[in-house]
Amino acid sequence: MKKGYYRTDAVILNSTDYGESDSIITFYTERYGKLNGIAKGARRSRRRFVANLDPVSRSRLYIFQTGRSDLVRIEDATLVEGFPALKADIERYGSACYMVELLAEMTRDGQASPVVFDILLGFLRLLEEGGEEGLVMRFFEIKMLSALGYLPHLGGCVVCRNALNGEKVFFSSEKGGVVCKRCVEPPGDTIPVSAGTAGFLAMAARLPLEKLRRLVPSPLVAAESERVLADFIRYQIGKELKSRRFIQKLKGLSA
Ligand SMILES: [Zn+2]
Repeated sequence: MKKGYYRTDAVILNSTDYGESDSIITFYTERYGKLNGIAKGARRSRRRFVANLDPVSRSRLYIFQTGRSDLVRIEDATLVEGFPALKADIERYGSACYMVELLAEMTRDGQASPVVFDILLGFLRLLEEGGEEGLVMRFFEIKMLSALGYLPHLGGCVVCRNALNGEKVFFSSEKGGVVCKRCVEPPGDTIPVSAGTAGFLAMAARLPLEKLRRLVPSPLVAAESERVLADFIRYQIGKELKSRRFIQKLKGLSA
């Protein structure tokens, strides 16, 4: 990005207090990917930025690239989509926070991907319209892994490449996919999964967003998918996400 002023559509991923009155904002743009910016006086002058820089908002930003630091200057922001229904529900808001945190962790600064931008927006809208949180998060995880080139091998055994014949299989984050009964090496760090789960994940990776809504897994497949994806993502990014711990806590409260 060259020095100068830019106007860009962005989804706000994170906001951190900086100094007495400024905020550091991480946001994802369609044209420039993930960027970090400083909003001067954002906390002093609520009039200027109001809720336009709150995480999980889509805003039109007017930014200045100084060319001297990794931080752009956020000069102005207008809210485009605030996702009010989602923010009024703590469980759905927790899921949205997980999605933006996952995206922030899995993308590098300044690497543009309009596909990733569309996925994020599409899934936030799905949550806003009342999509079931668990499923929305699973589909988002699969689509993000796929768009960023991290999708595990699901179409057959990742070791011998043989097809799965409806048998019980294993998932190995380290090997990057499904492993058949003959290739699994005990004691490996593998998760036993039904063939239905491998099929469900492969199908979810292929289907476009508008068709995903009709793909409804059984409780067993949903539970196995959650476990497999959580393990694989933890392996890829090397840590547990804060928002994921928050969601687990919420689940514990309602159980
Ligand atoms: Zn095999």
